[in-house]
Amino acid sequence: MKKLFIKTYGCQMNVYDSDRMVDALAPSGYEATSDIDEADLVLLNTCHIREKAAEKVYSELGRLRIMREKKEKLGGKVMIGIAGCVAQAEGEEIVRRAPVVDLVFGPQSYHRLPELLEQAHTKKVVETDFPAEDKFEHLPKPKRETTIARGLTSFLTVQEGCDKFCSFCVVPYTRGAEVSRPIAQIIAEAENLVDAGVREITLLGQNVNAYHGLDANGDSAGLAHLLYKLADIKGLDRLRYTTSHPRDMDDALIKAHGELDMLMPYLHLPVQSGSDKILKSMNRQHTVEHYMALLDRIRSSRPDIALSGDFIVGFPGETEADFEGTMQLVRDVEYAQAYSFKYSTRPGTPGATMDNQVPEEVKSERLQRLQTLLNHQQTEFNKSRIGTTMKVLFEKTGRDPGQIVGRSPYLQPVQVDADPSHIGTIRDVFIDSVGKFSLFGKIVINN
Ligand code: SAM
Ligand code: SF4
Repeated sequence: MKKLFIKTYGCQMNVYDSDRMVDALAPSGYEATSDIDEADLVLLNTCHIREKAAEKVYSELGRLRIMREKKEKLGGKVMIGIAGCVAQAEGEEIVRRAPVVDLVFGPQSYHRLPELLEQAHTKKVVETDFPAEDKFEHLPKPKRETTIARGLTSFLTVQEGCDKFCSFCVVPYTRGAEVSRPIAQIIAEAENLVDAGVREITLLGQNVNAYHGLDANGDSAGLAHLLYKLADIKGLDRLRYTTSHPRDMDDALIKAHGELDMLMPYLHLPVQSGSDKILKSMNRQHTVEHYMALLDRIRSSRPDIALSGDFIVGFPGETEADFEGTMQLVRDVEYAQAYSFKYSTRPGTPGATMDNQVPEEVKSERLQRLQTLLNHQQTEFNKSRIGTTMKVLFEKTGRDPGQIVGRSPYLQPVQVDADPSHIGTIRDVFIDSVGKFSLFGKIVINN
């Protein structure tokens, strides 16, 4: 077997895509390795969402050049490929800037990897088209053992691309227009996962709640419909989905949160800013009032739901008063967890050419204030679990001997001292303390 090393940057969809690349190359005799030194092929599956993410790739390529030279001196050989959104956005520029790269391919081409790799033995290959064929149709099914080795929880991409064109974001350019997979194709993939022991599936999409795949009658169906269908799969215990846009939380989806016990009470619903002026300039197509009213409706459907979000500070034109709007929104919502970023100018997006860009030091200072508040809320949320009993899906052994680790319904890591035979089961756990990121407790023995 030849060895394939993949380094994955960015979002969960890239994690999913990297596994698909491994599946696509398996019939060509490749198997994944976690040791880069033994690799015959190194792929970097890249992210272009912020500037630093792309720069990291170029510095990694500097290290790979040295590795390749050393290997060649010893008579060895290693091929190097760049996948993902930097590949899509930069294309030929990557080969020009880093001649060590043999192969560049965008997120819509990884089903063609064996053929592209073959070509790359004789010439540089750059493939950044959006082919008309459905890449998911063309991907080989992973072997059952491969899926088993990947663990008890899995991502499953149901929707890709985005038509929203927020003025800060590259996704509509790198991932293309919104495309949803048909329901039957998703159910078949989910059934394979469950057959190999997966108990929890997280549905993925850049804009997952805009999902509108075809059902058995050829009609367009929304995410709620898909969730109800998946909930019927025997052996599947938990469902999640990410990332959602506030504009696409329809009534059926909100109702599903109240009706489907296996849909975990945790929702990632980014708002980005708490200022209507900034939201408008970001082209988010919603206001603060709309977002808050939406949360009220979601909370009435599922009162124990915990919220997570994304925030951008220092978008062009953001004043101290606009930023205070964001701080106030966070105080009002009380997030269980959140991601926050300094605005990063992305060439080709409308935000990049807006005047009134915010100075770097102002962005840093605001980000620090926001993160202090969000971290405090996360700690308070975790502490509020002390003295409660939660269902935990145990996934693996912990770092310390005798420890096993799982996730709560709210995605919190939970560590207990217990026999590894509990791995793969969902147990009631009484939470007795919290650390910086994890909760600790004891399995409750139900008689
Ligand atoms: N579709 C999701 C939504 O609309 O909320 C977000 C997907 S995006 C891949 C993930 C997050 O990256 C965004 O929610 C945003 O907070 C952040 N992000 C995107 N572009 C950015 C930029 N130019 N600068 C800083 N953060 C950015
Ligand atoms: Fe980017 Fe999300 Fe806006 Fe689409 S909805 S453009 S993925 S931030």
